[in-house]
Amino acid sequence: MMGMVAQYLCARHGSRLKSAVGVTPVPATGAPMEGDALALFSNAWRVPAGSGLTLNLGAAPEGAICRVGLLDGGEGSPVQTVVFVDDEAVTSFATSGGHTWHDERVALPHAGSSCRLELSATAEFWISHAEVFVPDAASPAVLIFLIDALRQDHLGCYGYPLDTSPNIDAFAKDAVRLRGVTPSTSWTRASVATLFTSTYPSVHGAEDRPDMLRENLPSLAVQLGLGGLETHCFMTNRNCIPVWGFGNDFHRFRDADTEHWVSSDDAAVVDLTIDTVQDVAGRPWYAYVHTMGPHEPYTPPEPFKERFNRALYAERDEDPAHREALALYDGEIAYTDSQFGRLIAVIKEQGLYDNALIIVMADHGEEFWDHGGTGHGKTLYEEQLRIPFLVKLPGNACAGEVRDGLAEMVDRPPPPTQVSSAPPPPWPTPPPPQPPPSSPRPDITALPYFLIDATTDLTVDDLNDDLRALIGHHVDPDRLVDPDVPLAEVSDGTQD
Ligand SMILES: [Zn+2]
Repeated sequence: MMGMVAQYLCARHGSRLKSAVGVTPVPATGAPMEGDALALFSNAWRVPAGSGLTLNLGAAPEGAICRVGLLDGGEGSPVQTVVFVDDEAVTSFATSGGHTWHDERVALPHAGSSCRLELSATAEFWISHAEVFVPDAASPAVLIFLIDALRQDHLGCYGYPLDTSPNIDAFAKDAVRLRGVTPSTSWTRASVATLFTSTYPSVHGAEDRPDMLRENLPSLAVQLGLGGLETHCFMTNRNCIPVWGFGNDFHRFRDADTEHWVSSDDAAVVDLTIDTVQDVAGRPWYAYVHTMGPHEPYTPPEPFKERFNRALYAERDEDPAHREALALYDGEIAYTDSQFGRLIAVIKEQGLYDNALIIVMADHGEEFWDHGGTGHGKTLYEEQLRIPFLVKLPGNACAGEVRDGLAEMVDRPPPPTQVSSAPPPPWPTPPPPQPPPSSPRPDITALPYFLIDATTDLTVDDLNDDLRALIGHHVDPDRLVDPDVPLAEVSDGTQD
């Protein structure tokens, strides 16, 4: 994955990327930020309470835009910003005081030899980027739109007879449709880690529930960031948050309510993405958007909840409860598809679509009693592994083509010779597998708990070694329940 995106962009946009203004490392231009004035906080810089900040952003060409990203200290503590061009105050603005990211983008009224920001607040605040640039509509844009737990065979463009995906199907006409892409496994953290690092779980380390993503791995976000793209992650799945080692390789990691991940609304994460896409318009960017619609529980909003008549599933499954689940799953797909359509419409409005590289995919599939079970992360059968993978190349190259060969997320593509004869960039070498952590993983059979799984009556004692190895990652701490607690008081593990 990483090779495909990076190689293609370098081949097509090499000269543009070289001249692109990267996300300005704030300390490089902010003279007062030396010493202990600032401490690194995640992917932003903290400005201590009471210490103003002056940023010299360099020359302001004709038609330039000034951007800055700020997070204030909360209620009653907005950040005041004054923008100067050649020592003339040309505009000013303030954050809301609501402790949410505030991205400001202002057109400078005239050119000048220097642009300067003066920021002040009574409380501490954080700054993620500050830059002056001239918008270029041909700047590369990269979007990976991941739909959690989406089976390939439930999309119209892959032959599904029901109308679950009108927006994705329309997009597919501009894209290359791959049928044989296989994730590294059938659950989220391990699969997304492979997507982000182009390494197998044995290398990236995030194999089972207690495992973190290792450090110092190749990173698609870092590669694109080094190429001048501003990189954004919009995360809704709590398996891929900083506590598990995710996010620090993006310029900005946005936790889109992972606390309520199974009930998150894809409209909210698409709203956040649209705000950012509008803010970064005209400069190179990469956005990873993780949506959760088809992930259980299947609770689409109206009208998607009733969109598919349960009788449509009569031939597939005789059980009314199973038909209900399938209809709701398809309703979730249709809802997420509608949100994807909303995002694509904005990208088209901005004139970015034709030149963009856009990938629609899933991290794994979903089982509906195909082999006697439900959900994902439990087997490696087709229904849990076979994912959609649609790639819209810049210029809609190869639009409508279908590729049936097997491929993996970690695959490197052949050099894009049809686009450019430029040599491919060097491929990052993954570090060798690290020794196991000093503290061994807990032996779940030794724990005085029962495994409560919403889809099976199995307990830990029932698991033989092979089965435990296969589903070990599915031992969600939320489902490990003290047997002394009455079941009536026990979470079913699907909430929160
Ligand atoms: Zn997933």
